[in-house]
Amino acid sequence: MSATALSVSGLTKRFKGSAVLDDVYLDVARGEVVAMIGPSGCGKSTFLRCITLIEQPEAGFISVAGKPFGREVVGGTVHRQPRRAVDAMRPKIGMVFQALNLWPHMTALENVVRPQVVVLKRSRDEATARAQKLLADLDLADRGDRLPHALSGGQKQRVAIARALAMDPEIMLFDEPTSALDPELIGGVLALLKDLAAGGMTMIVVTHEIGFAANVADRVVFMHGGRIAEEGPPGRVLKQPGDPRLQAFLSLIR
Ligand code: ADP
Ligand code: MG
Repeated sequence: MSATALSVSGLTKRFKGSAVLDDVYLDVARGEVVAMIGPSGCGKSTFLRCITLIEQPEAGFISVAGKPFGREVVGGTVHRQPRRAVDAMRPKIGMVFQALNLWPHMTALENVVRPQVVVLKRSRDEATARAQKLLADLDLADRGDRLPHALSGGQKQRVAIARALAMDPEIMLFDEPTSALDPELIGGVLALLKDLAAGGMTMIVVTHEIGFAANVADRVVFMHGGRIAEEGPPGRVLKQPGDPRLQAFLSLIR
């Protein structure tokens, strides 16, 4: 097994000719927690969306647990992988979005069961047992039969996290997982992310919660203008930022 959960090299994404991601490199070790920070519009969401191939990057290579995803080099030439190969890899990357995106017409339990049955071809019994265990772990044992509209924002976000975890991903990507929540619900979701980190889950968390980045992340990555402008351990990056743009950003959000 590879010690590198995710490897991104030379990732470039353009919208209407202008580069939103400009030659980004990032390797994430198995079990590592990366907090990604940066001003609005700097490319954080696009970066996560390109890693999952929701968005097609113009250039760059992605690999998950040592296996190429999307593009690979065969005999010295770059090949787009066939759709089959891409689809088989997709469950290895769990993504939780800023906006709560459960299927509204399915119960919380069914939201967690369905992708396991459809994508991983698990039996309904196996998928249901796994979903019930996850919902219980996430303090949602008595919420399984509710439709999303009958859950609080924090509960919905926890169901979305359970749904992603049910796929046994190599890595979890979180795009501002608490930014749509009422202030009193933020702490619960951050505590859950902290538990996941303590359990060894590899993750990239895009967040404006600097306290979370300081306490939970192994590494903080500051993105600016589609590039990684500074990165390192939180104690250094957050307390002794070198890049003046990072200094300015931190003084604005603190
Ligand atoms: P962040 O998540 O850091 O706030 P985004 O990745 O959402 O930033 O956006 C980065 C830049 O790319 C912004 O200038 C945004 O307007 C632009 N952008 C994002 N998605 C699209 C799209 N689908 N079409 C055109 N421009 C986009
Ligand atoms: Mg964003």
